[in-house]
Amino acid sequence: AVKTSGKMGYRFFDQRYSEAILLAHQKEAELRHAVEHDQLVMHYQPRVDVSTGITSSMEALVRWMHPTRGMIEPNDFIPLAEEVGLISRIGEIVVDKVCAQLAYWKRHEQQVVPVSINVCARQFHEADISKLLESHLKRYDIEPGLLEIEITESAMLEKTEEVIRSINSIQEMGIRLLVDDFGTGYSSLSQLQSLDFDVLKIDQAFTARLNTSNESNVLFKTIVSMAHSLGMRVVAEGVETLEQIKVLKAMHCDEMQGFYISRPLPPADTQPIMPKMIFSA
Ligand code: C2E
Ligand code: MG
Ligand code: MG
Ligand code: MG
Repeated sequence: AVKTSGKMGYRFFDQRYSEAILLAHQKEAELRHAVEHDQLVMHYQPRVDVSTGITSSMEALVRWMHPTRGMIEPNDFIPLAEEVGLISRIGEIVVDKVCAQLAYWKRHEQQVVPVSINVCARQFHEADISKLLESHLKRYDIEPGLLEIEITESAMLEKTEEVIRSINSIQEMGIRLLVDDFGTGYSSLSQLQSLDFDVLKIDQAFTARLNTSNESNVLFKTIVSMAHSLGMRVVAEGVETLEQIKVLKAMHCDEMQGFYISRPLPPADTQPIMPKMIFSA
């Protein structure tokens, strides 16, 4: 603690500081407990074709079901998990839950759509993601075409040898690769091209700005066109209005995701997940 304004100020600061440390330790202990006591669950948000409204995939999003505090969103525990070395363990749990869910859907549904899994940079450094995926696909008897991996653009900035090798073997297995949150990092599309991604997801901030200015629409359209010329499909994230859908259609954006179509849902609520016309025109 830093001595600021005399004895009282020092004590006050010191006390608050130790309370903060205590809370952080408590949260870490609770997260460790959560991980080992099955408090993590997956919700699924559909990604649909812009012109037909047909679900092309579902994004798996992790939630922490806290016994007293209720549902905690990933932004409130994933950063901590990365900091305290729990992210690889969470990654294993997520892959296991998604594969078990896909196996369940294969048994009970006529048609199964692929599921995308979010993987952050730290996970590539701490574990062999491709081995993890390979062993789970085998264990649950799932075709690699039913899995997709989302990697944020910012995670790609540190393209180390091991990350590139891991990404290549994931792709060689037949698992599709998606760039997540495009536009929030500082990479160029040509940098991404060298990694041969299949799909580009444009960050929700760009979708939110659609129709607010001519420049916003031009920028969006430019990203769509460039991605297409590099052979990638394009997804708009965070679609919340019908007006946005109309522009996306005019821009030939391929797929979209957002609260207007569906919030992330517990697996039981995603049925029927099949061809659903959610809008007209
Ligand atoms: P993301 O991968 O970009 O996921 C999209 C986030 O936007 C989700 O938040 C989703 O609920 C939210 N969203 C979807 N549609 C809309 C919309 O129309 N409007 C608004 N305002 N938001 C929308 P969520 O589930 O809280 O996840 C936040 C981030 O946490 C994810 O961003 C992803 O980076 C990370 N995350 C989630 N699950 C996992 C996981 O299993 N592993 C790892 N490593 N990260 C995860
Ligand atoms: Mg994502
Ligand atoms: Mg995203
Ligand atoms: Mg995000």
